[in-house]
Amino acid sequence: MPLIAVLPGDGIGPEVTREARRVLEALALGLDFAEAPVGGAAYLVTGRPLPQETLDLAKKADAVLFGAIGDPRFEALERRLRPEAALLGLRRELQLFANIRPATLFPALADASPLKPERVAGLDLVIVRELVGDVYFGEKGRRHDAEGLRQGFDIMSYNEAEVERIARVGFEMAKRRRKKLCSVDKANVLETSQLWRDVVNELATEYPEVQLTHMYVDNAAMQLVRAPAAFDVIVTGNLFGDILSDQASMCAGSIGMLPSASLRAWSGDNGMYEPIHGSAPDIAGTGKANPCAAILSAAMLLRHSLGNEDAAQTVEAAVAAALAAGARTADLGGSLSTTEMGDAVLRELA
Ligand code: ATP
Ligand code: MG
Repeated sequence: MPLIAVLPGDGIGPEVTREARRVLEALALGLDFAEAPVGGAAYLVTGRPLPQETLDLAKKADAVLFGAIGDPRFEALERRLRPEAALLGLRRELQLFANIRPATLFPALADASPLKPERVAGLDLVIVRELVGDVYFGEKGRRHDAEGLRQGFDIMSYNEAEVERIARVGFEMAKRRRKKLCSVDKANVLETSQLWRDVVNELATEYPEVQLTHMYVDNAAMQLVRAPAAFDVIVTGNLFGDILSDQASMCAGSIGMLPSASLRAWSGDNGMYEPIHGSAPDIAGTGKANPCAAILSAAMLLRHSLGNEDAAQTVEAAVAAALAAGARTADLGGSLSTTEMGDAVLRELA
């Protein structure tokens, strides 16, 4: 029986994760669940944001369903004790190098997007972002330059193996979708991007069925606003992916709708699934949180870690049907509570 590690975390994390777990249980797939504290919740009971038992459970499990972390009470702690340190620890220990962020517009929410309805109609794209390399992890520092001026630097680098493994995730994802892969770089200026482009082109020979295009990141930013529905899968590095995935998520309306996956292999072995939103301390405990991002993260778990595409689509269809029937939490202009929104999705599942 597949084991799902449930790490609810802080703030609204436990509230939305509860609904996602209810949905997974309702599918009656014979999943085993085990819960463990993480973030501020773990610091409170163990003095550490990522206790060894939590890490062991996450490593042992077939997939991790993660809520959110962050607690204003612990912001003054040293960095390694802050709730956020748990997320970096999990990414490192589980070797989660691929971050997958779909941006889909549910037809019932067309009016929630800041873009014109005709621009976002049919929006259904996935950004595959490299998560453990690039300028974030290269050598960095401060010094004085030849003129004695203060200077800061961050080295951007990728080797061919790092590019190949993330590109493969992009190709595999595209192969299972509309078969269009857009690789985003800045190859007109950056040496890193020229290597990136070479490696992606070499790998393309293994995927003749996928239509590959290359786009400079500045153009990609423009096209995401002009015609976001034209994209299928975008694969890009850590820095460009950070920016583009936030940009794309706006097209889809509320932050409470957006799921994500972090993978260590394209097959989803041991992946971690979480809403893109944070712990939202401003609404924690009020019952206002939208659980859809967490529920849709559970759908991604079914798709990528359990290989159950049918069950994933069933969950996504139930969310779409609940929205079409008018179910709305406060962020979507409605008045349903977190649990009531979960109930609405469960009704459509039944
Ligand atoms: P982090 O630093 O962890 O990314 P943050 O403080 O930047 O978190 P969030 O915690 O995501 O951001 O909250 C941003 C805003 O969005 C807040 O006003 C919050 O109430 C709202 N929000 C976040 N998630 C949800 C949700 N699921 N439902 C409704 N509102 C949400
Ligand atoms: Mg925050």
